[in-house]
Amino acid sequence: MATFETEAVVLKQFDLGESDRLITLYTKDRGKVKAVARGARKGNKSRSGLVLPFSYHNFILYKGKSLAKINHIDSISLNSKLREDLEFMAYASVVSEYIERSGLEDEADEALFSLLVIILAKMNHCSRDELLFYLCVFQAKLLLLLGVKPEIENCTICGNKMNLRGDTAFSIKNGGSVCKTCLDNEIKDYDYLTLNQMRALYKIIFAEIGQLKPEYFSKKSLEVFEVLTEKFLAYHLDLKPKALKFLYTIKNMS
Ligand SMILES: [Zn+2]
Repeated sequence: MATFETEAVVLKQFDLGESDRLITLYTKDRGKVKAVARGARKGNKSRSGLVLPFSYHNFILYKGKSLAKINHIDSISLNSKLREDLEFMAYASVVSEYIERSGLEDEADEALFSLLVIILAKMNHCSRDELLFYLCVFQAKLLLLLGVKPEIENCTICGNKMNLRGDTAFSIKNGGSVCKTCLDNEIKDYDYLTLNQMRALYKIIFAEIGQLKPEYFSKKSLEVFEVLTEKFLAYHLDLKPKALKFLYTIKNMS
């Protein structure tokens, strides 16, 4: 039992009693931490009213046997737009639920933390049209961080270098490209990517986030990548956020 200081992002919250909230944090120093924000529902006299989903703060927490208690908060970024606009909220909810489901309790993962902070900040400041791009970047980087690297250059069955001409078959189950020799015409669940899409996919997976710009990617390619990375996360890591349903509902409305 001890007091500790850490940066953290609020992943989700529940009302607790008449004035408190139970929050799930993703912290830089201890991974996932559940905490009680006392008086959070009574406004922000104690500043705990600022502890809202997607917001980013520096906390001083007191960790008891189970739940942590918030002793002090200094806000770094409130990311307000992610709560004020339904479409922005839908995208941010998918991001935070992926982290909530893949992050471990009391085990730091600074790369995962940094990905979360960067993507939420980008989404908070981007245009509506760029939300899909940042979700794709997030899902692609999440795959890498969790140890699932989609194979693009070599065939996942025979191991030969792929000849990326025309459309390339992509198998979620095998984890990447399948060459024409190994293609099993009985199997119907390949995704097919054009040469430009294969190049763009390689870039979005392996380039540093700072070097990626939304204007490099067509909407069509991003739609393909979103589905592909989502299927990878579900098949190989059993990650399927409930928030995806909300996102699809919002998308169908617009
Ligand atoms: Zn092959």
